[in-house]
Amino acid sequence: MDMSADAAALDALATPALAGPTPTNTGDGPDGADGAVALGDLTVMMIDDEPMLTEVIGTYLEDAGYSRIVGINDATVALEQVRALNPALVLLDLVMPGVSGFEILQAMRQDEQLRYTPVIVLTAASDPDTKLKALSIGATEFLAKPVDPSELVLRVRNSLVLKVYQDRLANSDPVTGLPNRRVLMERLRGNLAQALAGDRKVGLLHVRLDRLQQLQATLGQTAGDELLRSAAQRLRSRTRRDDDGVRATRAETSLLCRLDGDEFLVLLPNLADPEACVRVARRVLHALAEPFQVGNDRIGVSPSVGIALAPDDGQTPEDLLAIAAAAAALACSSGRNTYRFGSRQRNQAAMERLKIEAALHHAVERRELRLVYQPKFDPLQGRIVGVEALMRWQQTELGPIFPDRFIPIAEETGLIVPMGEWALQEACEQGERWMRQGLESLKVAVNVSGQQLASGALPALVAGLLERHPRMRGALVLELTEGVLIDASPEVNAQLQQFRAQGVQLSIDDFGTGYSSMNYLRHFRLDEIKIDRSFVKDLPAQRSDLSIVRAMTMLGHSLGMRVVAEGVETAEQLACLAEVGVDQIQGYLIGKPMHPDDLAGRAAEIAVRGAGQPVPAG
Ligand code: C2E
Ligand code: MG
Ligand code: MG
Repeated sequence: MDMSADAAALDALATPALAGPTPTNTGDGPDGADGAVALGDLTVMMIDDEPMLTEVIGTYLEDAGYSRIVGINDATVALEQVRALNPALVLLDLVMPGVSGFEILQAMRQDEQLRYTPVIVLTAASDPDTKLKALSIGATEFLAKPVDPSELVLRVRNSLVLKVYQDRLANSDPVTGLPNRRVLMERLRGNLAQALAGDRKVGLLHVRLDRLQQLQATLGQTAGDELLRSAAQRLRSRTRRDDDGVRATRAETSLLCRLDGDEFLVLLPNLADPEACVRVARRVLHALAEPFQVGNDRIGVSPSVGIALAPDDGQTPEDLLAIAAAAAALACSSGRNTYRFGSRQRNQAAMERLKIEAALHHAVERRELRLVYQPKFDPLQGRIVGVEALMRWQQTELGPIFPDRFIPIAEETGLIVPMGEWALQEACEQGERWMRQGLESLKVAVNVSGQQLASGALPALVAGLLERHPRMRGALVLELTEGVLIDASPEVNAQLQQFRAQGVQLSIDDFGTGYSSMNYLRHFRLDEIKIDRSFVKDLPAQRSDLSIVRAMTMLGHSLGMRVVAEGVETAEQLACLAEVGVDQIQGYLIGKPMHPDDLAGRAAEIAVRGAGQPVPAG
């Protein structure tokens, strides 16, 4: 899962309002900004055919603390340069060969982007007609040549402060201080162009607070503004809590804006995984769930979130805004405090997921879970030596749901912890039963999630189970995925040591998938590796897979581990793996995951007829 999109989203929610300098600042240097925009970092451009003059002015400005000064002496390229660099201020000579300052000024005032850029005109003459003409086509200030340094610094500073202030007014919402529609549209346009060029997605969340109009009608505009400010504040700061371990890697920063009325927008550029939108939507809902204190009243806002995804749902900023708004309206008419997507398919998938999630909360207590067991076969001994317990969920209304669907949801919601504890308990009881029936050397493997280890409750649970089911001592295997071992903390490491001391074996599941690091093999003593099905499925034809399986087997053996191959479906695969020296075989060829009562029969059948027999479905 790509977490960077989440990180960026949280950054967006935490981004302070467009900070700019206040014109009341009286500090000495040019850095009159209140932190975010330092005047000294703004680009100042000088256009004068006299290199000496640009040199001198440049030096004066540098001394005053300006760091981005660009001098242009060739008037014919000046306009092009202004367009390319979009400076915060232009100092412009009027009389130049080729193109006059008047022409440049005129062209700037006709350019959408440069229309409001301040221009200080440099004039040698104190000729009032020239000044009048310059003013009439849009000069903002004059500076007499030869330039007096203190006069220069003063004029430049005033112009820049005014520019930043204007920008701030033009780009932010006066109530909340958040960026406004203009900024959003500009960013969205840029992000969409990038997304269309690459394979990333752009998410747009439309957040509406439904009590606002009512509130304004009853308590007045001021109360409404207060509520909006508090809501903006919560969206910015509270949602920042990174309770799912969001990484620091920033994708492109995202943006929280306020549009009109009760609408906020969150722009999530550069998404690898559309699910990130859902996580942000949930945080938004969570942040706004608690009532707001407005004056003496506590007021709940019932937020609704609409999600539009580009390029799937729309490819222009206008389309996306409309789709996100429509989705928010849908969320609102579906009872509020919820989110909806702009596309029907996504809504269906999201609804189904929500249903599964809600039902999963009761799966353990309603006894809807059960375990099936898949045999592990030893080709040298020609018999079944172990089983893996696999979870099945039969939900009354939704019918059977497979692990690929519900395990990820269980992981995300933390429900995997009680579910996994149930599985461990159940498997130990069943193991004990088999042993009493005479299947004595059977090893019973149970899948364990990283969250169970992180919870810290596992060693005590296992110790209790082994006490209650003494026959399971030496027979219990815990299957962990590589990810768990790679990220293992010292606490997890200590638990793993404890398990081994209790005679519990540890197995690495899905070996070879996803991670290339084998560093963890140096740090943990483990008993078994399970070569992932993806390396087995094209055997024996696929020579490169065969080489990898051979290498993994050698690696496992040289570290003193047992090697198991998963997903073996054909007799050819079995023969090939046995030849390579794999210790155990698991897969449909030996047996599908089956009801525990069927296992003894299958074990006997294999002992008599061999492994490659047709298998009754489990
Ligand atoms: P896994 O632990 O790698 O289990 C092997 C999966 O491969 C099982 O899928 C099994 O039915 C399937 N399989 C076995 N042999 C073959 C074969 O020959 N061909 C094919 N195509 N598939 C084969 P299942 O039961 O759907 O489980 C999927 C995953 O769900 C498991 O992968 C495991 O990661 C997770 N899981 C299942 N039960 C539990 C549990 O109790 N706790 C936890 N944490 N995860 C579980
Ligand atoms: Mg497994
Ligand atoms: Mg596996």
